[in-house]
Amino acid sequence: EAKAKGRNTFHFYSQELNAAANERLFIENELRIGLKEKQFVVYYQPQVDSRTHQVIGYEALLRWFHPTEGAIPPDKFIPIAEATGLIVELGEWVLQESCDFAVRLTKQGLENNISINLSARQFKDSSLVSTLSKMIIRTGVSAKRLHLELTESMLMGNVEAAITQLHELKALGISISIDDFGTGYSSLSYLKRFPVDILKIDRSFVKDIPEDTNDMEITAAIIAMAQKLKLDVVAEGVETIEQMQFLQNNNCFIVQGYYFSKPIAEHELPKLYERLNELSNSEVSS
Ligand code: C2E
Ligand code: MG
Ligand code: MG
Ligand code: MG
Repeated sequence: EAKAKGRNTFHFYSQELNAAANERLFIENELRIGLKEKQFVVYYQPQVDSRTHQVIGYEALLRWFHPTEGAIPPDKFIPIAEATGLIVELGEWVLQESCDFAVRLTKQGLENNISINLSARQFKDSSLVSTLSKMIIRTGVSAKRLHLELTESMLMGNVEAAITQLHELKALGISISIDDFGTGYSSLSYLKRFPVDILKIDRSFVKDIPEDTNDMEITAAIIAMAQKLKLDVVAEGVETIEQMQFLQNNNCFIVQGYYFSKPIAEHELPKLYERLNELSNSEVSS
């Protein structure tokens, strides 16, 4: 009885493992095809000054519209692209798209920043700086509008190499942003050594404001620390007016989240501007 049960359990797990392995293999193959067949699109989520409703910048977020599977979320395919090395090509494409987008905005008189997520592999790549430098020259984008989002864990492995890479990126004029801040290694003592410009407060601290007093304390502490270190701070995952007001009261004014907009395709920008206008009117009159 126990033996039979054990065997069944093993069988069950091995089937699950198989399914997971098959899915990985499927995604890996489809990623290569998808790249060739242009199934990817970059969406943009605005970072808004909550006092004025001006768009300060956009975060570039990769979207994959697969012909039979539909939309495959980044959390599902980025890790596989990272493990197989395909992220380098995919990431370079995102960088190119984002630069082109920034240049199109400039032609409309808009000087918004563009934040681009880098994977660990891309950040470690010794050709990243020359790739970016060529791209900046080719597209004519102003480097100071490019922000690269890194996570704490990407900086922690080889600290000296990370610092060198950051200095080279900064020498191009690019800004560095720490994504998902507070969720990785506690890098408080390192923070001063890394030449970073922006902290992005992770959504996990924002989402339960104003119910969770611990999260409120942590969020307020991150903002205060960022100010002391003269870093800009952006809050991600802001969904409600209460969250936005809490952040404002604690001196964090740049917010990104569904309250203002989900990530959108470029052609949806006019609708975004309309919504921001409407919000200005309704917040003033409420
Ligand atoms: P992230 O960089 O932390 O991006 C923020 C994620 O939070 C995005 O998910 C965004 O759609 C979501 N989000 C923003 N505001 C809200 C909100 O108010 N409520 C909720 N529930 N969610 C919100 P997304 O687009 O699914 O991306 C997930 C992750 O995938 C990103 O997290 C990033 O780590 C990675 N990723 C996306 N695009 C790229 C890329 O081009 N390159 C790399 N290396 N990673 C990427
Ligand atoms: Mg990000
Ligand atoms: Mg983030
Ligand atoms: Mg996050």
